[in-house]
Amino acid sequence: MGKLAKWLRMMGYDTLFFNGSNDAHMIAIARDEDRVILTKDTQIMRRRVVTNGQIKATLIQSDEPELQVHQVIDILKLDSQFKPFTICLECNQPLLERSRHQVKDLVPPYVFQTQQQYMECPNCHRIYWRGTHWRAMTEKLKRFISSSARE
Ligand SMILES: [Zn+2]
Repeated sequence: MGKLAKWLRMMGYDTLFFNGSNDAHMIAIARDEDRVILTKDTQIMRRRVVTNGQIKATLIQSDEPELQVHQVIDILKLDSQFKPFTICLECNQPLLERSRHQVKDLVPPYVFQTQQQYMECPNCHRIYWRGTHWRAMTEKLKRFISSSARE
């Protein structure tokens, strides 16, 4: 589920990740912040706040992160709001735009040579750019979304 959380952040969705040790805390946050719970835990699906519709929850079926992403895209109909490159994959903070010269000493020289657009996380100060790994992930996401639309 940690990988699923990263994929959703990659798409630009504000996504919190809970390791399962404190369900009550997670449910309280879902209620207070109007979040949808994505879980593999059938116990959570049986809770009254979920069965009576007070909190929206989805049971994730697969153990495979890519199939999980596919399921979530389908169920939550995520396609139209797909905004990649806007949220830190590690800390779920909105990224801030940085100019090339601001990141000059923070990124590898070959990156500086080839990339024009940069984003920084205000929390962990990671710098993001649209490198090959990023492009591979967004291509994969686009394929998920177009295959969902066809079904
Ligand atoms: Zn961060």
